[in-house]
Amino acid sequence: VLELDGKYQELQSRARALCAEAAEFVGEADESDTIHPHMRRLLAASGLVRLTVPGAYGGVSERVDPLAICVVREVLGGVSAHLDSLFAMQGIGSFALSTAGTETVRNRWLPAVAALDAIAALALTEPQVGSDLAGITTVIETRGDQLRVSGRKSFITNAGEADFYCVLGREPDGLSLVLVPAAAHGVSWSRPHQIIAPHVLGDVEIDGVEVPQENRIGRAGKGMSQVLSTLATFRVSVAGAAVGLAQAALDEAVRHCDARESFGVRMSRLGSIPHELARAWIDIEMARTFAYRAAAAAGSDPLASLSLSSMAKVGATETAGRVVDRAVQVMGRFGLIRGSTIERLYREARPMRIYEGSTEVILDSLSKVLVKQART
Ligand SMILES: Cc1cc2nc3c(=O)[nH]c(=O)nc-3n(C[C@H](O)[C@H](O)[C@H](O)COP(=O)(O)OP(=O)(O)OC[C@H]3O[C@@H](n4cnc5c(N)ncnc54)[C@H](O)[C@@H]3O)c2cc1C
Repeated sequence: VLELDGKYQELQSRARALCAEAAEFVGEADESDTIHPHMRRLLAASGLVRLTVPGAYGGVSERVDPLAICVVREVLGGVSAHLDSLFAMQGIGSFALSTAGTETVRNRWLPAVAALDAIAALALTEPQVGSDLAGITTVIETRGDQLRVSGRKSFITNAGEADFYCVLGREPDGLSLVLVPAAAHGVSWSRPHQIIAPHVLGDVEIDGVEVPQENRIGRAGKGMSQVLSTLATFRVSVAGAAVGLAQAALDEAVRHCDARESFGVRMSRLGSIPHELARAWIDIEMARTFAYRAAAAAGSDPLASLSLSSMAKVGATETAGRVVDRAVQVMGRFGLIRGSTIERLYREARPMRIYEGSTEVILDSLSKVLVKQART
């Protein structure tokens, strides 16, 4: 796509309208480690969450449209990381269910996810396992017609608030995904960590939890393919959120530099500052255009375009990191004030380069693809 068509522009307008209504809660919500009730209510009323599940289960389009998710996240990501995460996780936490869950389990959960009546979560990370998911220690055992799940998951978005967790665990056949309802006997959670940009985040203890076989998502030993297909649809949307955040940081910097004078000129004309601002603008436009292109490609064939989505994620999140850092720099001491918008954006940009595939892990995979292509 070179220009977004009307359908996507309409989604942007709806997301902007939501952000305008949510504006008064942003400061509070983005400092919270629990879901902000007003944010949840407003997001549910907007109907935008319906974009995160397939049409057959209360969603908008037949299949989840990565470009739709991307453009909405761009708007939300520029305003509130809390709102953005609440929106995106409904898709990330439920997508495996949409594509490979049993009919009973889909019907039970997906319409509730689409209406924001149920909160979704994806539980991969463990206290000692992050990027290297092959080292997962959570165990899934078959006990007659039941599955028994035991392990500890760490740094899980929506822990403590989620109604279900899609849990990656180990079976004799390999890694598998299983839906574990939060209300199941043996599930508990805690918040051992607070991060620099507060997030609804916690650890989940799964202590010999028994769930029916129908809670298995996809085939035994094929859990990583479900994780991969979730990434293939949603990873590019992190690029959308990062572009929105970078744009918001640049807007703050431009406003500040144009309003303040130093050495007898407006700061927007002082020394290297005009070039810093212009470079940030170029970087953001490039990241945005590429994010839309990768998201459109993911809409046609998510797995075939995973490399493009991954490039868009790295490109946009690294851009956001650079832009927000330069924005703070050109704002001088005013960029450092706790509770200011720029300070919040500065903190919120940081985790984006670590979650959903860290920059280095993605670069490593991309370089393997590159070399493989060159050899064929
Ligand atoms: C805000 C936030 C929300 C999160 N939400 C969730 C969630 O909902 N569900 C969930 O399961 N997890 C979640 N996570 C965890 C996240 O997925 C992990 O942080 C991520 O996978 C990276 O793992 P790690 O932090 O253990 O880093 P590590 O894997 O220990 O990596 C540390 C450093 O080593 C580098 N590195 C690792 N491997 C390689 C390699 N092969 N080549 C080169 N460099 C490498 C990394 O790039 C990084 O710089 C969340 C994390 C954050 C910060």
